[in-house]
Amino acid sequence: MTNTSPSIIVDSTPEAKAAFYAELQTYVGLEVGEPTPGPDEVNAPMIRHLVEAVGDRNPIYTNPELAADSIHGGIVAPPTMLQAWVMRGIDGPARGGNGPYEKMNQLLFSRGFTSVLGTNSEQSYKRYLRPGDHLTMRTVIDSISDEKTTGLGTGHFVSTRQDYFDADDQLVGSMLFRIFRFKPAAKVPPAKPQPRRPRPATTYDNQWWFDELGEGRLCAQACANCGRVRFPTGPMCPSCHSRSYDKVELPLSGTIHSFVVAHYPQVPGFDYPLPIVLVDMDPSTSHIGKLGNDRVRMIMNTADSAESALAVGARVRIEIRATDPDMKLPFAVIDPIGATS
Ligand SMILES: [Zn+2]
Repeated sequence: MTNTSPSIIVDSTPEAKAAFYAELQTYVGLEVGEPTPGPDEVNAPMIRHLVEAVGDRNPIYTNPELAADSIHGGIVAPPTMLQAWVMRGIDGPARGGNGPYEKMNQLLFSRGFTSVLGTNSEQSYKRYLRPGDHLTMRTVIDSISDEKTTGLGTGHFVSTRQDYFDADDQLVGSMLFRIFRFKPAAKVPPAKPQPRRPRPATTYDNQWWFDELGEGRLCAQACANCGRVRFPTGPMCPSCHSRSYDKVELPLSGTIHSFVVAHYPQVPGFDYPLPIVLVDMDPSTSHIGKLGNDRVRMIMNTADSAESALAVGARVRIEIRATDPDMKLPFAVIDPIGATS
């Protein structure tokens, strides 16, 4: 089965998968392209450059006299240079065309196995190479694994084997090179935990106020001595310095005294632009006889309100909303008509 359209074939049955895998296996053992001759013979300058680069001081690679006295009888190349002797240069011909390797890739692409990762290579050596050896490389598709699923995705491991031959067509070494051709795992965006709104700092003197909010009551403090209503909460009356107070429940309504819209800095847990309003709270009706018309102001954010509705003098109703499982705060909702229930 071949696929000429860019759409991906889905082998949804075990039989279809088996057929695909069987087709894939027909590429195993096929030679990839023409034999590749090395551009240069094995030579002393390239050996010297490599051992200098890697810091290998073994004299059998660079010192003719010492190498002559060794079991090698003369200079040899480091075995790990095997691949270097047939590497095409920077401007060398690129492999392309329509050979077995490309066809195998097209088959893998047709199933969506479009990503690639080199996984490992193994070299094996038959003999040391000496200056003057001229290598030719032949590449075959060595093996294709059945379908595997890794952390990267699902795909097939494809191993190619490069065999290196000398001028007498004798095998001098081989390299297995394994890649993983895979379908990238669907990127599941990590569940981004909505950062919790930073909590207000609570103290011995204001914890009760948040506790009342948690019960749905918005309160101020009234001095038990002189009756002055105050907010924010504090330990002492600013008028008479009494430390006795009553809790006064406020109606959930008020008027915008002033506002700002914050853009920066952006603190996680808030949405921006972030309106911040200063609300003249309506006085407590239940305490009006006792306490008079003291007004308090509270700072809060708005909710369900267009930024364009922000205006000094706009009427708001206050909604007490949970900002996390253990915290409730007041929010100002701007009434469009200016009426407050
Ligand atoms: Zn007082």
